[in-house]
Amino acid sequence: MKIFLDRELCYGSGDCAYRVPSVFTVVDGLGAVLPGQQDTGDDPRVREAAEKCPAQAIGLGE
Ligand code: SF4
Repeated sequence: MKIFLDRELCYGSGDCAYRVPSVFTVVDGLGAVLPGQQDTGDDPRVREAAEKCPAQAIGLGE
């Protein structure tokens, strides 16, 4: 499952990078998915990060 991170909604809280630093990072003050990690949406930790994003900026899908 792919991760879609909407940088228009994100306000850079950094929660996702704190929860799953192997997948998410913060670039220029906004959340980002690390290169090569876009297909890790099935990881339960990524699902949790998406659910807990305070801006609801992380979507998972195909
Ligand atoms: S948890 Fe959400 S709002 Fe915070 S940096 Fe990540 S995507 Fe942005």
